[in-house]
Amino acid sequence: MKRFSCESDAREYLEAVRWPNGVTCPHCKNNNQEKIWKIHANVAKKVRPGLYRCAECDKEFTVTVGTIFEDSHIPLSKWLVAFYMVATAKKGVSALWIQQNLGLGSYRTAWMMMHKIRHSLKDPAFMEPLEGTLEVDETYVNALPRKRANEKRPVKGYRQGSEKVPVVALVKRDGAVRTKVIPNVSQKNLRLFIGLNADEKSTVNTDQSTLYRPILKTFKRHDRVNHHVKEYARHNADGTVSHKVKTKPQKEPMDFDEVMRRVVRVKPERSKKPTKRKRK
Ligand SMILES: [Zn+2]
Repeated sequence: MKRFSCESDAREYLEAVRWPNGVTCPHCKNNNQEKIWKIHANVAKKVRPGLYRCAECDKEFTVTVGTIFEDSHIPLSKWLVAFYMVATAKKGVSALWIQQNLGLGSYRTAWMMMHKIRHSLKDPAFMEPLEGTLEVDETYVNALPRKRANEKRPVKGYRQGSEKVPVVALVKRDGAVRTKVIPNVSQKNLRLFIGLNADEKSTVNTDQSTLYRPILKTFKRHDRVNHHVKEYARHNADGTVSHKVKTKPQKEPMDFDEVMRRVVRVKPERSKKPTKRKRK
């Protein structure tokens, strides 16, 4: 973690990750290096380091503009170390641990950082389509008894009065999983889910349902397999047998550079601070 030991190292690291093809203006996307000037830091004139000016739109920016790090009072170097700890830790990382290891002044700050980190790791930037041999399947959850209106106790008996909720799941052989609750198992809902979560270069196994045929037409291969044995083993059309996949994939430490390449694409959450009241 020595590489983020000072702010300029951290900033240069983020610049390399965010702008692999040269500095790009976040305001107008100008990438012409002749029309972007680096403004030299000047403490006396309150010019912060890492500032650029774009000649195309005449605006100033730093590498954090438009990222989750914009407007943060926490030094970038501490953000990067915190992300590194979360991304590489095999067991979870607590806010207290982050506070102590980063020498943060308050637990609240550490807690807020952890919240932001966890939130950004759930961003679509981290949800690129799965590719390879995939299985897609619908299942139903919420089989527990449901409370009847005006009744305090749930209806007795398993599934009695329950409302089953359809869930569609896409599973890759290595254990990567995408799931989504859908209003009903329709071609429209399945198409939307598969389109977002599966790469067309994939081979997809489905059950015998005819719903999938038009959806998976453009995919590399679509195999319809017999599902009555699916709880124990899956027989593929090519003769191999795949055993039931663990739904909880083993947590692999992520490649930190890849994590940061995605983090800089995460749009910042809108500020929850109350806006200034308008005068009546
Ligand atoms: Zn610009």
